[in-house]
Amino acid sequence: MTDFEPVIGLEVHAQLRTATKIFCGCPTTFGAPPNTNVCPVCLGLPGVLPVLNRTAVEYAVKAAVATGCRVNPRSLFARKNYFYPDLPKGYQISMYEQPLAEKGSVPIELEEPGGGERRKAIGLIRIHMEEDAGKLVHEGMPDSGTRSYVDFNRSGVPLIEIVSAPDISSPEEAHAYLTRLRSILVYLEVCDGNMEEGSLRCDANVSVRPRGAAAFGTRVEIKNLNSFRNVVRAIEYEIERQAEAVRSGGKVVQETRLFDADRGVTEPMRSKEEAMDYRYFPEPDLPPLLVETPWVEKIRVSLPELPAQRRERFAGALGLPPRDAAFLAADRPLADFFEEAARAAGNPRAAANWISSELIGRLNAARRGIAASPVRPSSIGALIRLIDDGTISGKIAKTVFDEMFESGAEPGAIVAARGLVQISDEGAILAAVDRVIAENPSQVETYRKGKAAALGWFVGQVMKATGGKASPAVVNRILKERLQG
Ligand code: ADP
Ligand code: MG
Ligand code: ZN
Repeated sequence: MTDFEPVIGLEVHAQLRTATKIFCGCPTTFGAPPNTNVCPVCLGLPGVLPVLNRTAVEYAVKAAVATGCRVNPRSLFARKNYFYPDLPKGYQISMYEQPLAEKGSVPIELEEPGGGERRKAIGLIRIHMEEDAGKLVHEGMPDSGTRSYVDFNRSGVPLIEIVSAPDISSPEEAHAYLTRLRSILVYLEVCDGNMEEGSLRCDANVSVRPRGAAAFGTRVEIKNLNSFRNVVRAIEYEIERQAEAVRSGGKVVQETRLFDADRGVTEPMRSKEEAMDYRYFPEPDLPPLLVETPWVEKIRVSLPELPAQRRERFAGALGLPPRDAAFLAADRPLADFFEEAARAAGNPRAAANWISSELIGRLNAARRGIAASPVRPSSIGALIRLIDDGTISGKIAKTVFDEMFESGAEPGAIVAARGLVQISDEGAILAAVDRVIAENPSQVETYRKGKAAALGWFVGQVMKATGGKASPAVVNRILKERLQG
């Protein structure tokens, strides 16, 4: 694919983490028994009026401000009319011509093949508020083959739609954008970011154009993307499909397609569902939404440190390698965990290392998140201090860490109970060194003939003889002295 370049714009729906729905007081709890979180308002019964949830607006404004959008002092809810069995009113309350916020951006960083890093800002066209629809249930019921069911618990749950500019130029950039956007929303605590539960949903707009051309090609919108991985797969497939169509003399039709994750292909949606005229008009039951500037400014100053800034601080002030900084800053609970461990250790790099390799590896294997870590950040700090002050070797520390992960015990207690304190006592090490030298005359010969590499073998033997507890630095020094003869 060198003759064509892709142009990609993403539309992300994020469910806001409010306790109640956007226009009524029903709870938003996920997984409640079907049709228990409902009332006349979110069931669309006649004679009811929507009342806007202030917290939903606050969360939407937080997301807007954190992504550098301009919040409009006056925005309008609008009716988006269409028929579907999960939409009881026959219209969705959304925003159209006057959205809540416009013109922001999301910074991304991409790893370069050579090891460097490329930075880019993906523009945002708009962020608007809307209500979610209900959910059709086609599976898992005794008569699923012949009937569909509707669960209205989700009807009226508050969403924001975040529409990116067509600034995304590859599947990798799409992935980086989604990852950063999710991270920002979760940091702000306005969305739980859970894709499996539908808290974050994404549609991808994709077109291709001859490399270097100024004009955009015809775009296709892909729906049904339920994981970041599937977003990437669908975009990859679609770029190839469109490029091939143009190469072979055909052209791309503007349409909506669905991604089939099992087969890894996109397919046109039936045209009846495609030909949609929403007949938008301003929602007569809600007055214009007026957002006052002092409130926006109050929200702006209350924002937490965001992932990009935190990553910057981890790499800069704390001196972490860019990769570790990016990994640890992306998730707020993980970043908090790291910072606490780094403080306790007095050694940020070591804390980053232990967490991103040893701890995360074990947590993944046990299918646990950082919140369920059996090892506390302060204990990681204590372990690193034991290494740094020479009490235990790095090798022994791994054994200690295994036990910390198993039992949640403190490293100091484990080291004391199992007698793992590093032997720095020269006498004991000297005895072991002399024993190893006496027992291996031919290796001594090899070393003395100038094969310095044999030193490593001797270090290994002495470590073995001391149960791995000898200080490697002391072993090295004494070995060299004694082998010199
Ligand atoms: P609509 O109102 O029909 O959804 P928008 O102009 O709002 O159209 O664009 C929707 C999305 O499509 C945005 O994310 C935008 O960046 C993207 N987009 C627009 N034109 C193109 C194009 N030629 N190729 C790829 N994406 C595009
Ligand atoms: Mg759109
Ligand atoms: Zn309700």
